Amino acid sequence: MHKNRVNILGTEFDNLTTKQFHKYLDDDLDVNANRFIVTPNPEIVLSARKDTNFSEIVNNADYVIPDGIGIIKGAKSLGTPLPERITGFDTLQYLVETANRKLLKVYLLGSKPEVIQASADKIKKDYPQIDLVGYHDGYFKDETDIVNEIAEKKPNIIFVALGSPKQEIFINKYRNKADAIWIGVGGSFDVFSGTKQRAPKIFQKLNLEWFYRLIKEPTRFGRMLAIPKYMRLIKKEKKNNS
Ligand code: UDP
Repeated sequence: MHKNRVNILGTEFDNLTTKQFHKYLDDDLDVNANRFIVTPNPEIVLSARKDTNFSEIVNNADYVIPDGIGIIKGAKSLGTPLPERITGFDTLQYLVETANRKLLKVYLLGSKPEVIQASADKIKKDYPQIDLVGYHDGYFKDETDIVNEIAEKKPNIIFVALGSPKQEIFINKYRNKADAIWIGVGGSFDVFSGTKQRAPKIFQKLNLEWFYRLIKEPTRFGRMLAIPKYMRLIKKEKKNNS
């Protein structure tokens, strides 16, 4: 495994292009490697600073991938640039396509019942070569049955959409139950299933996806205050370094 990482306020990101990352995932799938992917954004970097246990879980993942333009800007500003943003959603998309191509077993966990159902239906319809071995919404009281099902069905890829830090804690606890690629995908099923729209291309291009999400879901405002706070900390760190 490569270990070329860039430290952004305590979170260690992999210095990889999308192409390199995808090649690693292809190789991992070919040998059935047990892997854990996290895709931190500035909000997660800040939570990890406050919670050592969560920080250890994130930094011990096999892949720590920069989701969010804030991470790319921060890395550049600190003089340790990362090549490009790689979102959890794009990674989900790549893994689904790869699973279809390689005829792999997939398990979906998390999000609301109607969202996970719609995601499962979409996989069955649009990716017919995937062997969808199971799926479950993310509002369970006891995970025993879910974990047993995963251990029994042995999926090659397990998508976990419980939001952070729940999904990372879940994966860290149970990844030994199946040699799979485990990835925390946050709200990606909401978009994948068509329940929520992703920002129009123009917003994505201008790095204003966050702004689009804010107008669509004003309740996210509190969470978004993490971004200016993160930027202030980057500036402070830069000063300390110089
Ligand atoms: N979620 C869940 N169980 C929970 C809490 C959240 O399944 O107990 C799901 C929720 O339905 C949503 C996702 O986790 O699909 C988290 O979405 P959010 O937008 O917070 O994630 P982000 O992508 O911003 O990390």
